[in-house]
Amino acid sequence: MNIVLLGFPGAGKGTQAEKLVEKYDFRHISTGDLIRQEIAQGTPLGKEVEATIESGNLASDDMIISILVKAIKDEKRGVIFDGFPRTIAQAEMLDAYLARRGAQVDAAVLIKLSEAEVLKRITSRRVCQECGAVYNTNAEGYSGKCGKCGGALYIRPDDDERSARHRLEVFHKETQPLIEYYERGSKCKGVDGSGSIDSVFKEIETALGLSKGEEK
Ligand SMILES: [Zn+2]
Repeated sequence: MNIVLLGFPGAGKGTQAEKLVEKYDFRHISTGDLIRQEIAQGTPLGKEVEATIESGNLASDDMIISILVKAIKDEKRGVIFDGFPRTIAQAEMLDAYLARRGAQVDAAVLIKLSEAEVLKRITSRRVCQECGAVYNTNAEGYSGKCGKCGGALYIRPDDDERSARHRLEVFHKETQPLIEYYERGSKCKGVDGSGSIDSVFKEIETALGLSKGEEK
């Protein structure tokens, strides 16, 4: 089963993807991470992407697809796509690639949150300067210091309210067409992202039909 994860920044896509990987042995593909890895390894493709980004442009769909295909071509597990596709063109390229392997995107999971909730989550996020662990000032047990290494916490520059609002706008513009794309194929599954991590996970399991037969 291949899944596309859609949701506002701050909706917990990464956390939910990790939980799916842990319980159901998916491969979690974050295109942002893949691109950073490719650049760090200095492959020809990585160099091309790096030069493109340095010149102030975005990596092209072809570059991103090439990186993605390299990462999943021998993958036997189901894949969770996180941060990809970003455009209809990318969604179509992904469908075409998977179809050649006799596979498909089986579902696009949209983690839904109100804008007010998203803004609250983003602006209350704090990151450890030392180890990068992420905290939320509204979380139980928040102490203002890193619970793992004791490091000081800071607000990432793109987590202030103005940047957060801008990211929301970008998200709407980018994601709405994708939601419609997957709705046309009846693949879009909306889940309520406002509950706890575990309750959102249960909703995702139900939406994907994963929890069947496990009910006690
Ligand atoms: Zn830390």
